[in-house]
Amino acid sequence: MSKSMVKKPLNLNNEKLNWLNFKRLVELVSADLKNCKLFETNPEKFLTKFALDLDPYLAKEAVDVYLKKRKSIDNPYLTQACKLIQPIYEDIAQRVDITNFTAPQFQKWIQRKKKALAWESRATRKILPHFNASVMFELSQGCSGQCDFCCLDTRPLTKTYRYTEDNQKFWQEILKATKEEIGNAASVGACYFATEPLDNPDYEKFIADFYQVFQTFPQTTTVKGAADVKRIKRLMKQLGMKELQKAKLRFSIISLEQLKAIYQNYTKEELAYIELLINNKESIHSYSDSGRARKLHGKRGGKEHFETAPSVCLIGFLVNLCTKAISLIVPRKPSDRYPLGMETIFSENFSTPNEYRDLIQKVMQTYMPLKINENHKLCFCSGISMQSKGNTVTFWGDNIKRSLSLSKETQIIAKKLQKEAYLVNNIFKEKTYSIFLQKSILTQLQHLYDLGFLEVVS
Ligand code: SF4
Repeated sequence: MSKSMVKKPLNLNNEKLNWLNFKRLVELVSADLKNCKLFETNPEKFLTKFALDLDPYLAKEAVDVYLKKRKSIDNPYLTQACKLIQPIYEDIAQRVDITNFTAPQFQKWIQRKKKALAWESRATRKILPHFNASVMFELSQGCSGQCDFCCLDTRPLTKTYRYTEDNQKFWQEILKATKEEIGNAASVGACYFATEPLDNPDYEKFIADFYQVFQTFPQTTTVKGAADVKRIKRLMKQLGMKELQKAKLRFSIISLEQLKAIYQNYTKEELAYIELLINNKESIHSYSDSGRARKLHGKRGGKEHFETAPSVCLIGFLVNLCTKAISLIVPRKPSDRYPLGMETIFSENFSTPNEYRDLIQKVMQTYMPLKINENHKLCFCSGISMQSKGNTVTFWGDNIKRSLSLSKETQIIAKKLQKEAYLVNNIFKEKTYSIFLQKSILTQLQHLYDLGFLEVVS
């Protein structure tokens, strides 16, 4: 930091302007390691170069916190950022509250899956609040983006689900069934997954129906921020300021040229609430080590760009309207076993909204019981290992451990479940357990289930 850089009193009346400049600063620093170094070396010169009217001392302080070089401190730029971001988290937290789930077992299942994820990957542990979507819809098949880092390794675009009279009716019925079977929690969803939302020419019509059902728009993340500016500006109008302030529009940035084009086509004011997801190769951010990003090792100029956290934020139902398929998805630590950083637990096709509804109910009944019993088939979560010493069992995850007291019989069963899935009844038949012992084992297995260590499989 230069010696001339002294802390200046801030114009606190201009919070909005401070935010617009600070947001731009963070984007520029994140988008290019060269920018990051330039700002580190000479904040004043950097701010002048990019015409950012910020106090250099406070801006440096705030960026250091953002880059995790120092702990959080009282800083007006950070306070302003928190003031804008906090209501977004509060809105989501309220929407995914258990009272907004039609079936509490679905919410409990999501919580167990989050616990299992936290054990599986340390990197995921830090971002657990991001896994909020319980349902996502795809309105096309494949994606026109074909980004080289695509963590879901999407195939090229082959089909879009158009807003014809029949499809409109079908879609509205699907949304109605979603609201009834899942609840308002489904409002924290999106109408894209391994797809680009704007590949569908009728996307705006579909999300207008979503709004009619949930009184909020689904989040749109698009790589086409600079490709069809007129369309995006119309979409911004459709969303309105209140929804934009809830981070309902995000641009994925895949090149510095694209970032430049975004800055040329939108004012700072227009971008005030549009989050830029900086994914270009020069950026300081990491990719999830999944999908096509797995093939980029060693091809990014020696920079470590890979995270063990999955890129998927969905724990729940993925519905593709083109193929009329519904799947149950959970994020997983990317690995050879889960190269896309996710596991598909169930997948089936439906042809009517009623069949769709039946499948949601069937999945909840099959995989999400609140209480396990002897008729359930159980298996141990693959990301967790265990070691026994007497009655104490220590469970190990990624840089995390926990010891529990378990009876010898339960320990033997837990070890069996680590190797393969078993119907509890079949385990009980293998040996003569008294009714009392069976009850005691089931209670202990229930505890492991509630902790996310065990899961029910079909
Ligand atoms: S990252 Fe997004 S836009 Fe790019 S190919 Fe994958 S799904 Fe498409």
